[in-house]
Amino acid sequence: MSATAAGPPGVRIGDETVPWPVGNGSPADGGTPDVVARAAAALGHGTAAALGTGTAGPGTVGPAGLSLVQQVGRSFQDAYPDVRVLADHGRHLLVRTGELPPGVGEGEGLHWRVLPLEPGAVVVDRPAPQRRRWAPGTGELLDTLSERDYTDWLERLTAPHTRHSLRPGFTETAATAGAALAALGYDVAHEDITVGPVGRSENVVAHRHGTGPSPRRLVVLTAHLDSVNHADGPDGAAPGADDNASGAAGVLEVGRALAALDHHHDLRLILFGGEEQGLHGSRQHVAALAEPVRRRITTVINLDMVARRNTAAPGVLIEGAPVSRALLDDLVAAAATWTDLTVTTSLNPFASDHVPFIDAGLPAVLTIEDNDRANADVHTARDVLATLEPALALKILRMNLAVLADRLTAPG
Ligand SMILES: [Zn+2]
Repeated sequence: MSATAAGPPGVRIGDETVPWPVGNGSPADGGTPDVVARAAAALGHGTAAALGTGTAGPGTVGPAGLSLVQQVGRSFQDAYPDVRVLADHGRHLLVRTGELPPGVGEGEGLHWRVLPLEPGAVVVDRPAPQRRRWAPGTGELLDTLSERDYTDWLERLTAPHTRHSLRPGFTETAATAGAALAALGYDVAHEDITVGPVGRSENVVAHRHGTGPSPRRLVVLTAHLDSVNHADGPDGAAPGADDNASGAAGVLEVGRALAALDHHHDLRLILFGGEEQGLHGSRQHVAALAEPVRRRITTVINLDMVARRNTAAPGVLIEGAPVSRALLDDLVAAAATWTDLTVTTSLNPFASDHVPFIDAGLPAVLTIEDNDRANADVHTARDVLATLEPALALKILRMNLAVLADRLTAPG
């Protein structure tokens, strides 16, 4: 990162560097008190001082600076089509803080959020592909993944009218998936969860003990099983093919491959309910983890939207946090070694089931198709199987399976 002579370093997003705006938004710099107040209100801060505008100069956060918008689908841009986007990178947008409309922070949470940035921030990185040596047999294991089996699961999971967490289609697919995992030798439990004040749903939790001596580590693969139709409510058609039959089918297919592996450490596969209403299944699962179990978790990989190709070259975004840096690096190396995926990474976790694990200090990542924002069909009746490219998902599964197997068979 190099600063121009004139000002602070810009913000890097993928291959682009967006220059840090000159000026600090103060009246002396051409900003107006109104802009300052508007920006503070937009970000949900009571006063301009909360944004640091009282002392803002070049190189500090202020209303003339840049903010990151993270959005699910196109939710932010649909709500605020007039906000100028300086850089558009899948679920990440760069905007000028001072141009955000009042009240923008109110959408924060489920659908989008706004984070003020510091100069020199790296929002989305594009790491150089670096191959690594893997254990003998890794390639053969990856080759056991079957696009045919994966697609069969996609068909079964998208068959119900909806997999809304509070509807029979969810319960039926949870039962089908649980039975399939039990048939593969997993110990399967259905974990009751609440969704909202009165809703009841479930997580499917499948466990496979490792063959090594205690204490063994615990490696976790997750996806949410539920779907939603935002416009038409709980009884609207919600095939949820990309979001998230694609990830749930991935857990089932990787689970099939791993059932044939002799592994030292313990493996847990989880299909969550209640994700679309606010990560209910994953939050409750993490909250209920006994401390000795929590301490054994070394790896959490979450799959959410992995089968829609939105870019010319097949790509994946790996999203983690500083706590999951080593896992993220392993996945980058696996992608370079075993796939032709274009890889981007982010350390701003948002809006899927990896977040509760990260909030609990556990090393979790999300793997998601590149530029998922381009999929405008999520949460509608149009998120159907015909729009998917299973071959993309298979590449993402290969990357994930390589790392899962590596961590499951690690000595000690
Ligand atoms: Zn999802």
